[in-house]
Amino acid sequence: MKRIGVLTSGGDAPGMNAAVRAVVRKAIYHEIEVYGVIGGYAGLMSGNIEKLELGSVGDIIHRGGTFLQSARSEEFKTKEGQQRGIAQLRKHGIDGLVVIGGDGSYRGAKALTEQGFPCVGVPGTIDNDIPGTQFTIGFDTAVNTVIDAIDKIRDTASSHERTFIVEVMGRNAGDIALWAGLAGGAETILIPEAEQDIQEIAQRLKKGQDRGKKHSIIIVAEGVMNGYEASKQIQEVADMDIRVTVLGHVQRGGSPTVTDRVLASRLGARAVELLLADKGGRAVGIENNKLVDYDIIEALAMPHKVDLDLYKLSSELSI
Ligand code: ADP
Repeated sequence: MKRIGVLTSGGDAPGMNAAVRAVVRKAIYHEIEVYGVIGGYAGLMSGNIEKLELGSVGDIIHRGGTFLQSARSEEFKTKEGQQRGIAQLRKHGIDGLVVIGGDGSYRGAKALTEQGFPCVGVPGTIDNDIPGTQFTIGFDTAVNTVIDAIDKIRDTASSHERTFIVEVMGRNAGDIALWAGLAGGAETILIPEAEQDIQEIAQRLKKGQDRGKKHSIIIVAEGVMNGYEASKQIQEVADMDIRVTVLGHVQRGGSPTVTDRVLASRLGARAVELLLADKGGRAVGIENNKLVDYDIIEALAMPHKVDLDLYKLSSELSI
């Protein structure tokens, strides 16, 4: 392996830049050339590829988003699109590709690998919903952003003795809601992985109020329902003053936390090591603070599991 490529794909996440930096510096450390693909798989098919030097990744470790840009491409889901991508990689003399993204991006990496072009997947998404890793790059930063918001909402909630619903990202995975809810002392957390009874939640909130509880915070993952719908359903059962905050895309941005920068640096460097060892078709991850890697096809088949022990703990602590 003399020359590798790197791209970021799907939804951007804080720490993607730190991962690209690690890929570039680790490769150059091993005297391998690195090319950056601009604009994800769309940029790959159109040959938007440029050489990256040590200095190309200077001053980016602390920046959110991805300086390589990201894109979504339906065309890349077709075999023709993938063949065009491979042709561009070969034209640039690239022998292996690091793909930083979510599970959709992993499917693209898997398709390229199956067609003979070795790829390694690096998990980058705020949702923490990629199989084969306990944590994804960007998750810690997103949760910290949510916590920052909850702490501020808590100030006004307690001043006005109100109930607040905070809707957070997470279509299929409740990780952001769960971790932010536990860390933010939420009364109730609604996640897609656990069924909840709105009647019971409303009655519990009412009881808390009757007991003199001044304010309550409820965290809802967008995959369960939107915050306004949750408010409506609770108000149908219990008459209370509820305010809704939808955090939206602020959760995607911002400077990555230490945890995300370190994780990104470790995973990016490991991806290069795998390509150098001729181990394409892998997905890297972290489990119990140890780096792991799985066959990307097997990884995609693994279920992502939210930590239900944390969910139970949160319920126990919010009585
Ligand atoms: P994420 O990687 O964050 O999950 P997407 O699901 O949007 O984001 O996937 C990113 C890109 O990966 C898609 O726009 C598409 O180009 C590519 N991709 C997704 N699924 C497949 C697939 N089954 N085969 C090939 N490429 C895919």
